[in-house]
Amino acid sequence: MINIVLFGKPGAGKGTQAEFLKERYNLTHLSTGDIFRFNIKNETELGKLAKSYMDNGDLVPDQVTIKILEDTVNKNPNTKGFLFDGFPRTLAQAEALDAFLSTKNWEVAATIALEADDEILIQRLLERGKTSGRPDDQDQVKIRNRYQEYNEKTAPLMEYYNKQNKFYPVNGIGTIAEITERLSAVVERL
Ligand code: AMP
Repeated sequence: MINIVLFGKPGAGKGTQAEFLKERYNLTHLSTGDIFRFNIKNETELGKLAKSYMDNGDLVPDQVTIKILEDTVNKNPNTKGFLFDGFPRTLAQAEALDAFLSTKNWEVAATIALEADDEILIQRLLERGKTSGRPDDQDQVKIRNRYQEYNEKTAPLMEYYNKQNKFYPVNGIGTIAEITERLSAVVERL
């Protein structure tokens, strides 16, 4: 069992890298953003609620997000490990994740952060917005709000995991393959 948190600002490449890592290490990819988008597409109650936050680049409330995370983990009891992508994003979520995993005698093995400069990432998101159809990728104001949410609420998690000796920053600039190798080098050492 090996649980990894893939950490990084919006546009850092978490989703792209998760696709490679889940294959390589046989992990279950769990993206809260993907779960919310699936629910928006299917017009569920959760989708309607999530949309009201996501469209503005605000975080979905912890209570809702933590419940979804726990339900999804519970649906995969035989996994070899999770690759958490976009979760946790607040201290309350990180604490809830630790508490929840410990009830199963599991834990977060490592938090691997994809690092890149804000201005590069904002340009990348605007490019992605042209094809992704994501409203939160198409508007500079919304994108900047997502960065503000990250800086205020998510960035403190670096210290949270660093204190537990579980924080591994990785240079997020390079080709997709180069970055996959950097991330894999961390996983191999765990
Ligand atoms: P992502 O696909 O990870 O970039 O997430 C897109 C949006 O979904 C975010 O901007 C938030 O509105 C929402 N979201 C995804 N994961 C979380 C989370 N862990 N906590 C709160 N909101 C989230």
